[in-house]
Amino acid sequence: MALVPLTLRGELLGALNQGSVQTGHFSAEKDTELLQHLANVTAMCIDNVLSHEELRRDGFTDSLTKVANRRFFDRRLGDEIDRCRRDGTVLSCMLVDADHFKQINDQHGHRAGDRVLVGIAGCLAAGMRASDVVARYGGEEFVCLLPHTTLAEATALAERLRTAIDGLSFSAEGADKITATVSIGVASLQPERNDGDRAILAESLLEQADAALYGAKDAGRNRIVSAPE
Ligand code: GH3
Ligand code: MG
Ligand code: MG
Repeated sequence: MALVPLTLRGELLGALNQGSVQTGHFSAEKDTELLQHLANVTAMCIDNVLSHEELRRDGFTDSLTKVANRRFFDRRLGDEIDRCRRDGTVLSCMLVDADHFKQINDQHGHRAGDRVLVGIAGCLAAGMRASDVVARYGGEEFVCLLPHTTLAEATALAERLRTAIDGLSFSAEGADKITATVSIGVASLQPERNDGDRAILAESLLEQADAALYGAKDAGRNRIVSAPE
């Protein structure tokens, strides 16, 4: 066997391992320079792929909260609608909007507001399964996409998340503590109604969740409203 570590800028990336059934195919000192060159080229290729992947990932991540961004969400929404039409499964969606967030900024400053957004995003992400998507939809608004989740299950999850966020507290300047609440609108796409156009279904799902969110705001905030099934 010939085992060559792949290193780049002093960092170990992996190993290039070759084997032969012929005894004597590899021997110490034989072709070392050639193998070293091969390893250098391989390391550069891997490094290239890694930085491309990093770039791609960063292009889909919200820089403040580190959850996915709107671009990533829109793409996944299309994919998930296709999947739910194909498999006849139910897809649910939650729109989460921080309550009176402008007041939090006004009272405690924009930087404290940013910390609250990071905390809300972290709480949402912690409550998701691996197949769910949580994304920052806009300013103080987040969206969660829940494949294989019924409206009733999504509503129960929304209630757990709302309670968890209500229980968070953030440090402000001085001894003050900041608390925040969210309102959540929940909607689902039913399998039997899944034969429409993908873009129209996506828009309709978001519109229903948005109308439900509006209802939650109207009813006094810090609550969940589900769209009618
Ligand atoms: P409502 O309960 O009706 O949702 O009231 P609201 O104050 O949350 O809603 P409004 O749309 O009036 O204000 C949203 C605020 O969110 C205004 C904007 O400055 C703030 N905001 C948006 N993005 C950010 C951000 O990245 N950081 C901080 N600190 N504030 C943000
Ligand atoms: Mg708000
Ligand atoms: Mg808003």
